[in-house]
Amino acid sequence: MVDDLYDCIVIGAGPAGLSASLFLARYLRRTITFHHNSPRNEYAHGVHGFLGHHGIRPGELLARGRDEVTGHGGLIIEACVTAVEKVAAERFRVVAGDEGRVFEARRLLLATGLRDLTPDCPGFREFYGWSVFHCPDCDGYEVKDKRVAVLANGDNAAGFTTNLLTWTRDITLLTDQSEISDSDRETLAKLNVPIRTEAVAGLEGDQSTGQLERVLFSEAEPLECDALFFNLGTKLATNFHETLGCRLDQDSGLVWVDETRQTTVEGVYAAGDMTPFSQLAVVAAAEGAMAAIHIHRSLAGKS
Ligand SMILES: Cc1cc2nc3c(=O)[nH]c(=O)nc-3n(C[C@H](O)[C@H](O)[C@H](O)COP(=O)(O)OP(=O)(O)OC[C@H]3O[C@@H](n4cnc5c(N)ncnc54)[C@H](O)[C@@H]3O)c2cc1C
Repeated sequence: MVDDLYDCIVIGAGPAGLSASLFLARYLRRTITFHHNSPRNEYAHGVHGFLGHHGIRPGELLARGRDEVTGHGGLIIEACVTAVEKVAAERFRVVAGDEGRVFEARRLLLATGLRDLTPDCPGFREFYGWSVFHCPDCDGYEVKDKRVAVLANGDNAAGFTTNLLTWTRDITLLTDQSEISDSDRETLAKLNVPIRTEAVAGLEGDQSTGQLERVLFSEAEPLECDALFFNLGTKLATNFHETLGCRLDQDSGLVWVDETRQTTVEGVYAAGDMTPFSQLAVVAAAEGAMAAIHIHRSLAGKS
């Protein structure tokens, strides 16, 4: 049984979803926003580079955002969306929560973000977001002139490592050597970046402050360091795009959108980390706002 027909259902209440919900509420659009309280950066100690809110705790930024949305009459429900479906032109159905409640809307905004593949070693959680990071754009400045270990595999490992030279010259790459090409190894050698290939056994440091002090190896001397960056890949948090038939961007593997943030399925929009180019809270928020503007325009004049 369908509860009501909304103008838009937003799935996700991170910076992208909440920013869209705020604008949609200000356009007086009947909008419902779902989330299950799992923003990508829940382990971060602060959001860096968000103009006017630099360093704010991620939970605080989102709590303020939720208040702003509800303060404008927007509806936010904490419930996991388990299914989405296009049931007719301009009609999308969403199933949410343990009781499987059904909601329908004329537009759908996907803002469910990405999930990071993280190192599977003892100590990781204790330091993640404090002195263990994955995003140089977010936290590179915080390791200026510090001793940094980089845990990365595959083709991007060398590029990811050299990018961090922006902030510090003291970098050691920890990787599976077989995945590093000869030319990348040569480049790193010229830049005085040593490569260690022993298996990482754990991270150690002051857990009360989240300060990493060393990386442990099963069969080698530990590496003393102040921070660790990892680059092990990401995956889309949900497969709703797939169910709906939204095409992926070939280069990034993320959900393709046009300049109005509409996906290849009419009426379905996407914003934030799940779309190409953005991996920052401030960018996700801007994309959410853009999606809302275009969703509103697409509904204008239609009762
Ligand atoms: C450790 C860490 C530190 C970071 N530091 C910074 C920083 O300093 N500065 C910066 O700009 N960026 C930073 N980022 C990146 C930033 O967190 C992301 O760019 C931003 O969160 C993307 O916003 P989003 O709204 O696209 O997705 P998210 O914030 O990931 O939000 C996704 C939303 O979707 C919801 N959701 C997912 N699946 C479902 C479902 N099935 N049903 C209902 N809801 C669902 C979640 O509950 C959540 O509300 C950091 C990321 C990490 C991991």
